Amino acid sequence: MPVTPKKRHYAHGWGTPPWQIDFRPASRPLPARADFVIVGAGFSGLSAAAWLRKLAPGKSVVVLERATIGDGSSGRTGGMALAETAAGDLPGLGDVLRSYKQILHALKVDAELSLPGAFELGRKSAAKLRKSSIRWNDSGDLHAVNQVPGGSVNPGKVVAGLAKAAQSAGAQIIEHAEVLALKSVARSLLESSGKNSQDVPVAPAVIELKLRLHHRGKSKTKTIAATRVLLTTNAQSLDLPDLASSTHPKLTMALATAPLTHTQIKSLGLSSRKPFYTIDLPYLWGRLTKNNSAIFGAGLVEPTSGNNLHAIDVRKGPAAERLAWLESRVRQLHPVLNNVRITHRWGGPILLTEAAKPIFRSHPRHPQVTILAGFNGHGVALSVHLGHWAAQHLAANRPLPLWFT
Ligand SMILES: Cc1cc2nc3c(=O)[nH]c(=O)nc-3n(C[C@H](O)[C@H](O)[C@H](O)COP(=O)(O)OP(=O)(O)OC[C@H]3O[C@@H](n4cnc5c(N)ncnc54)[C@H](O)[C@@H]3O)c2cc1C
Repeated sequence: MPVTPKKRHYAHGWGTPPWQIDFRPASRPLPARADFVIVGAGFSGLSAAAWLRKLAPGKSVVVLERATIGDGSSGRTGGMALAETAAGDLPGLGDVLRSYKQILHALKVDAELSLPGAFELGRKSAAKLRKSSIRWNDSGDLHAVNQVPGGSVNPGKVVAGLAKAAQSAGAQIIEHAEVLALKSVARSLLESSGKNSQDVPVAPAVIELKLRLHHRGKSKTKTIAATRVLLTTNAQSLDLPDLASSTHPKLTMALATAPLTHTQIKSLGLSSRKPFYTIDLPYLWGRLTKNNSAIFGAGLVEPTSGNNLHAIDVRKGPAAERLAWLESRVRQLHPVLNNVRITHRWGGPILLTEAAKPIFRSHPRHPQVTILAGFNGHGVALSVHLGHWAAQHLAANRPLPLWFT
């Protein structure tokens, strides 16, 4: 009997964005162990997987993904590529946009990347950017007040391209593999040598991951042992990285319009095709897609119980109200948008952290486990850049950043 989306274990009501993820990983059995296991197949995990195989070609790399590649933020993102982090520049961060461009090029990812710059929009007329082409109405007169480095990508193509690069490099990506728990298991040299002595030294522990594999409506519990683990689960599964009490998972909302004409785009002041975001509240961001749809986003929805974002359904309750609020704002921005058709409405997870700094550090209880998460809605370029750094850390001991110490 075919499994309908509603019956799938990973089904949630987060809606669908307007792009496709045009790649499915090859189906292969779960190995008993791997040198590196990455949990989460978003931008961070897939970038790390591709680079790990390039930096340590003799080592095995397995990516475990609870649903399908890109099912978290990365497949549902706005797709604005921005510099730095949500907290600005951080010590040792490097040039995020330059690195992003180089990584996509090196991995041969056709991302539709364009970097014409981005508009910062504001409501204070004193700060008005001379020659602002944007004049919208949203809790006051909204116009461009600054331009910053940035641009946009097609998120579906980035997810698919990174996954393809990771698989081509030799990483194994396993979908419908939900990691439930991890523990350190001491591996005595005694076991491997077969000797029987109290004095045999103890080798570093391996990490045993317990996971649930879902296949055709059935599930099985399995384990895999790893020498090193990278957790890139973002706003979900916060117990794994021990982030449940120190971070705030939310669902944030977005919508896409039907394609606009060139005249409509010109009237909106978007002929330069620069994406935009507000620097004052209420927050709003957006951009044009390659086929001239406009995407807009805003609003945060709290998890209904605990940290569980999966129970949120964008068709009802607070998430539907937030989407209606966003749609009403979009329609009032400019006469061009008054009666525009909305083709897609969706939400996606983001993880808010202390001082908006991304989390990139060792697990507090398992030194062989590294955590990369918490981009605060500013992770399109940053996740790929730090995924590369994570691979360098795991394969070649590149030190982790110091912004947490
Ligand atoms: C609507 C929206 C708009 C955004 N717009 C922008 C933007 O314009 N610009 C910008 O810079 N950033 C934006 N962001 C943020 C950006 O998309 C994210 O920072 C980035 O995608 C994070 O990538 P990630 O790989 O770290 O996390 P994710 O893409 O969330 O990946 C985590 C993966 O882990 C998997 N997973 C979770 N738990 C488990 C488990 N237990 N076992 C196995 N797998 C698991 C999930 O299914 C998921 O695939 C936006 C986010 C959203 C939601």
